[in-house]
Amino acid sequence: MTQVVIVKTRFAPSPTGSLHLGGARTALFNWLFARSKNGEFVLRIEDTDKERSKPEYVEEIIESLKWLGLDWDGEPYFQSQKTALYQEKIETLLSEDKAYRCYCTKEVLDTKRSEMMKAGEKPMYDRTCRDLEGQESSRPHVVRFKTPLTGAASFVDTLRGVVEVGNDELDDLIIRRTDGSVTYNLVVVVDDAEMGITSVIRGDDHIANTPKQVNLYKGLGYEPPEFTHVSMILGKDKKRLSKRHGAESLLEYRDEGYLPAALVNMLARLGWGYGDQELFTREELVEKFTLSKITMSPAVFDKEKLDWLNAQHIKTMDNNELARLALPFVQKRHPHATQEDAEKLIPLLKERSRTLVEMAEGMDFYFTREIRYEQKAEKKFLTEKGLKPLERVMELIENCSDLDTETLDREFRKLAENLGLKLKEIAQPVRVALTGKTVSPGVFEMINVLGRRESLNRLKAASDIMRSIESTVK
Ligand code: GLU
Repeated sequence: MTQVVIVKTRFAPSPTGSLHLGGARTALFNWLFARSKNGEFVLRIEDTDKERSKPEYVEEIIESLKWLGLDWDGEPYFQSQKTALYQEKIETLLSEDKAYRCYCTKEVLDTKRSEMMKAGEKPMYDRTCRDLEGQESSRPHVVRFKTPLTGAASFVDTLRGVVEVGNDELDDLIIRRTDGSVTYNLVVVVDDAEMGITSVIRGDDHIANTPKQVNLYKGLGYEPPEFTHVSMILGKDKKRLSKRHGAESLLEYRDEGYLPAALVNMLARLGWGYGDQELFTREELVEKFTLSKITMSPAVFDKEKLDWLNAQHIKTMDNNELARLALPFVQKRHPHATQEDAEKLIPLLKERSRTLVEMAEGMDFYFTREIRYEQKAEKKFLTEKGLKPLERVMELIENCSDLDTETLDREFRKLAENLGLKLKEIAQPVRVALTGKTVSPGVFEMINVLGRRESLNRLKAASDIMRSIESTVK
């Protein structure tokens, strides 16, 4: 039985830069819509602009999508490989008198344009060449589409309903440049139609192009798809998102230790909602995503919210998977670290890390054999007064039958009581002895993973410092 494809979406980036949050969100919405409808999602690289398109950007876009887990069906399409099809369509339009060659020079057009602007008119091509007899293909020319002179171009936008623009507002748009290269509005229509795209979901910066494209659909004898124009993403200051608001490209977020699951969650919530729910797994998003819940007002990106989401996803993620994602960050700091090390340490850091970078930093204590004490920590906690309690802790660790956290907790509490001290008062110098810092994973958990020998070595080194203060004081 052949399966009828009900929904087919596409992500159509121009490889003229890295993939940013806006583009990634467009990709995600297209992916979610297709997956939620058991449809298809394709990737089309719009590389017709030879000057600005770069293979390294293609790679980066692909890497970013893979990192986010937005898989596409089939191989990516490249518009640069489909020139023959576009030229064929242009020739058809020319032969059907739906397009014409325009010989007006740039200078003439520029002069007319500034005159129109001076007169307070909307600058449009005055159609000098539209009905010229004897079209010569050998003279330098562009090809323009014959926009209907009357009537209107209308389309249905999922969020806005019917959008209609009078054809008198629309120019005879250029579909092929003097150098023979084809333009965006033409190729996007040919491709969307030929590829059977049923839903075009893209940024609302393209909404002014849609009426022009609708006329092209008609001219080429195609049925237009359904359109959804998604609002812009702004920063918290309500300005267009830029470097000031955080990382620019998606891979920067990856390198800063964000989880793909958190990015996907955050991107989904930018302009889409499901009641008050903030946390979503990918599966839940696929299940709940609908185009009608996309909001029309601009979405606001908040870096702090991303940090929060990342921490939540870190907390709920499976330990092995988390270790796999954290390992490269750990290895950057400690090249010999293994997956097992990471797995062992994850439970100590999972509840307290906002990013994988923070998580890797929190693991330093395990890999660093020579502790460097933060000056303030050393001064405050490795004191003469602390020596006796610390020695008692060493005895405790030496003699404790089992170094599991429950036993350690019980024994530490008993010791504190015996010494007439608070638990914190004996635990904090131990923390400094084990890590050199005042902030770290739980003391008992650290003793547990470091083991008896290593813990004692570190406590001994700290006690030597305490002793040396004692002797200088005397
Ligand atoms: N290549 C266009 C862009 O990156 C795609 C526009 C569209 O989705 O039609 O903006």
